[in-house]
Formats: sequence, structure tokens, C-alpha cells
Amino acid sequence: MDNAGPQLLTQSEELRRRALVRTPGGVHSNVRLSGSQEFIKCAQGAWLYGVDGRDYVDYLLGQGPNFLGHAPKHIIDAVFEACRDGVVFGGQHELEVRASELVCQAVGWADMIRFSMTGTEAVQAALRLARAATGRTKLIRFEGHYHGWLDNVLLGQRDGQWGIASAGQLESHLADSIILPWNDLRSVEEALDRHGHEVAAVIMEPVMINAGVIEPLPGYLQGVRELATRHGAVLIFDEVIAGFRLGLDGGAGRYGVTPDLATYGKAIAGGFPVAALVGNADLMNRFGTGEVNHSGTFNSSVMATAAVTATLTSLLENPPYERIAAHGTALMAGLRDIGTERGLPLRVSGLPQAFHVSFGDAEVTDYRTLQQLDLARYESLSRVLVDNGIWVTGRGVWYVSAAHGQRELEAVLSRFDKAVSEWV
Ligand code: PLP
Repeated sequence: MDNAGPQLLTQSEELRRRALVRTPGGVHSNVRLSGSQEFIKCAQGAWLYGVDGRDYVDYLLGQGPNFLGHAPKHIIDAVFEACRDGVVFGGQHELEVRASELVCQAVGWADMIRFSMTGTEAVQAALRLARAATGRTKLIRFEGHYHGWLDNVLLGQRDGQWGIASAGQLESHLADSIILPWNDLRSVEEALDRHGHEVAAVIMEPVMINAGVIEPLPGYLQGVRELATRHGAVLIFDEVIAGFRLGLDGGAGRYGVTPDLATYGKAIAGGFPVAALVGNADLMNRFGTGEVNHSGTFNSSVMATAAVTATLTSLLENPPYERIAAHGTALMAGLRDIGTERGLPLRVSGLPQAFHVSFGDAEVTDYRTLQQLDLARYESLSRVLVDNGIWVTGRGVWYVSAAHGQRELEAVLSRFDKAVSEWV
């Protein structure tokens, strides 16, 4: 006879059990489907605290938005204070004017802005605007670049071929997409020579953070800029991750190349859900005349624009970029040292503000060469990292925030070393 009493569930297990009843997969974004991690009770600075009592040094940052750390007091206070007088008006208010001015000031090259809630929406607005302005339909896109989850942009790979990534998405949704390897100027030139008169836009992340944190090769962005101009295509930089993270002027500023339109999100609003499309007045004014539709009940809400205003004021007045670069540089070096000491081919590459951890030593310049690394091996390590109190995903991209300091550096390196010793 089995005398064991009823098994007690941890709080996370109990919450997960309940979540699975009401929520498909227990999560509200498919990006979070993998893994069954501890539920989070609260977060502060660079730390997450789980309901079962564990703490985590956070290098995921909510997939990027918590660039100033979790719950930055000045931003939370500014948002709560502003929202006491109402959240959405179906009319205009002063904060949205201020937030718009600040974003254009920070970005430097852009005349005008429209806010939305998510990066996905900002990308859609950019594509519609480019098609309206050019009267063309095709889009040049790149392997491994992510532009949101909607039908006309979501890309997956099957048997080496790029195409739809979800059941319910139709092949026809991607009929206008020309998908090219990134960092290969020749292929852009050839595609534009052949299809230039049909291409409305070339859209890319100026630095491919989503897949491998890969920087553009010298001259690549400049070359694409020239080709797009020559063929009358709109150049769109999707800066949803890079924007405000790599500097106030994002990837465009870092690499010295100005697009026609750019999308922002994540780091723009201290953790609140805000995104934006910016661009030159010629293009953007098409929204203003009503020729091109861009709408959204919650666009430029008091919450959103108070968050943007507080975040950008903080970034402009007290830029955290040197501190973040110092932490990221020390952390990358520390992880490499642990790899060397443990005799592992650990590879840490990218930028101090966002870097990639994997195994292998291939020369990686695009999505294809990224596949030469042992990505599965890192994915396996990442589960042990979470168990040891380092909050990361299996994709290998680590984000650094302004809240990461010496205490976090010491904690993460000792936890990483312990995790590796348990895992090998
Ligand atoms: N563009 C890029 C480069 C992104 O990384 C993401 C999200 O990760 C998006 C667009 C979509 O943004 P959101 O998830 O806010 O819709």
C-alpha cells in the first residue's frame, strides 16, 4: 500500500495548473511557451523575485523594455501622477506633444512621430506608409530579422526554406516579401536590379539583435542606403530593440546611416507598452492628410506618453550609456574567462548593451553562419542558468540595463560558474 500523502505543489506549480485551465499553454505570448519557470512575484532594479522564494539576476529585461531596470521610481511615479487625471481622452493632450518633441530630439534625424502600443503595429504603419508613398507592393526583408507576429511579416524556416511560421498564416501573406541573406550587399543589389520598380521598402534591424546580435559589416548599411535611394525604395530601420539601447540615436546613429523611417519600442518607455514610428515630414504627413490610415484607441495615452517623457528626460539628462557599456564589457569578459577556465568553447559576442552567448567558433555575419554555432548546447545550459538564478532564455541574447552594477556582476559570474560546473 502506498502511504505517501498528497504531493504539495509549489506556488508556481499551482499557478501554472490554474493558468493552463484558462490560458492556452499557460502563457499570453507564444514567445513564452518554452519552459515552465517560476512565476514572478515582483521585480526591482536588475532583480526578479519568484513566488517560490528564489531570486534571479535579470538579463532578459522583459525581452528588452526594462532598459532602466525594473520599476524605475521616477518613471513609475510620473506615470501614476499623470494617470490620476485620466488615461485616454479620445482627444489630444499636452504630454503627447512633449513626448513627441523629446523622441524627435533624441533620435536627431526624424521630423515627425506617431505612437502606437507595440513594435508590431509600428512596423505595420511603416510598411503601409512606404507602399502608399511609392505605389509599389514588394518588400525586401532579411533572414533572421523579426518584425512582429502578424501575417505579412512573420517568417519561419522549414527545410532550409524561409516561409510562413504559423498555422493559419497563408503563403500568400508573404507573396510580396523578397527574403535575402543579411550583410550581403550583392544580393540587395541584384534584387533591386531585378525588382527595383516594384519594391516599396527595404526593412531590417540595423544590427541583427534578435538572431545572434550580429553587427552590420563595414559599409553594408551605407551601401543599402545608396541602393534604396537609387531605386526609389523606402529604407526602414526596425529599431524596436536597438533604439535608445545603443544610444539616443540607436542603430542609425551608431552606424551613421539615416533611414527614411524607423520603428522604436521596448527601451522607449521604461517598461511600459509603447512603440513609435518616426520619419521625415514628407512621408509622415501622409498620415496627417488622412491619405494613409494609422489608428489605435490607446495610441499616445497618458500612461504611454508620461512613460516616454520620463524615460527620455532621464536618458537625455543622465545618460546611462557609459555605465551600461562598462557592465556589459566586464560581464562579457567574465563569461569568456569562465569558459576558458572550464575548457568550454563558450562564445560571447555582440555589443555590451546586448550580446549573444553560444558555443562554437564560426565567423558569424548572418543568420546562415549563426547556424554553424552549437545553439542547442547553449539552450541546454540556459535552463541550468535559470535554475541557478540567472534569468535568460535559450535564444542566447542577454540584455544589460542601467540597473546592473558591481553587485549584479559578482552575483551573475559566481552563479554562471556554479551553473556551468553542474551542467558539464
Ligand atoms: N521589431 C523588432 C526588431 C522586435 O525585436 C520586435 C519584438 O521583439 C518587434 C518588432 C515587435 O514588437 P512587439 O513585440 O512590441 O510587437
